Amino acid sequence: MSTPEQTPPPSHTPDRARVFVVSGPTAVGKGTVCARLRERHPEVFVSVSVTTRDPRPGEVDGVHYHFVSDEQFDELIDNDGLLEWALVHRRARYGTPRQPVEDAVARGQVVILEIDLQGARQVRHSYPQARHIFLAPPNWDELVRRLVGRGTETAEQQAERLETAKRELEAIKEFDEVVTNGEIEETVDRLVELTGL
Ligand code: 5GP
Repeated sequence: MSTPEQTPPPSHTPDRARVFVVSGPTAVGKGTVCARLRERHPEVFVSVSVTTRDPRPGEVDGVHYHFVSDEQFDELIDNDGLLEWALVHRRARYGTPRQPVEDAVARGQVVILEIDLQGARQVRHSYPQARHIFLAPPNWDELVRRLVGRGTETAEQQAERLETAKRELEAIKEFDEVVTNGEIEETVDRLVELTGL
């Protein structure tokens, strides 16, 4: 007969909840890496952010982002519906809906927040127990190549994003872990290790 002390906790209990921030410069591959992580571990909860930017071709509302108007975003802020939010690249606002994250934490899921540096700093205050992972490019030239290669921004937007990227790379020391995103499966392997999935 097993006593409560001898019974190992099921893997999904609230006390095992872990929140991980995954941040890093533009075009480093955060979205691709998180999508691959979810494919390999469907039990992970990857937060879907709200944003005021327009969808890119192929992006699906509710899957990649919840695309909202400025008024809807204001309403979310006013109702304390966002865990964190930021104006990114001086162009659009992005935020993490609070309730779905709190529900996932209550279910004991591993939670991933793929957010920018400003958001990561806010989470440090709202969730001090969160671990912060910085996804780094192999080098600067590769980052530029990835950004230009995906072809989803104008030259002006690319310049703006690279400016932000410089600032973000300088903040690398604020993070608990740095993972270099060279080969995607290796990056995901490392995230699996770090999150305990
Ligand atoms: P993109 O427009 O390329 O999808 O994202 C631009 C930036 O916004 C990325 O650095 C991404 O991590 C960040 N971002 C996406 N969702 C959120 C969010 O909910 N909060 C914050 N603070 N940043 C976000």
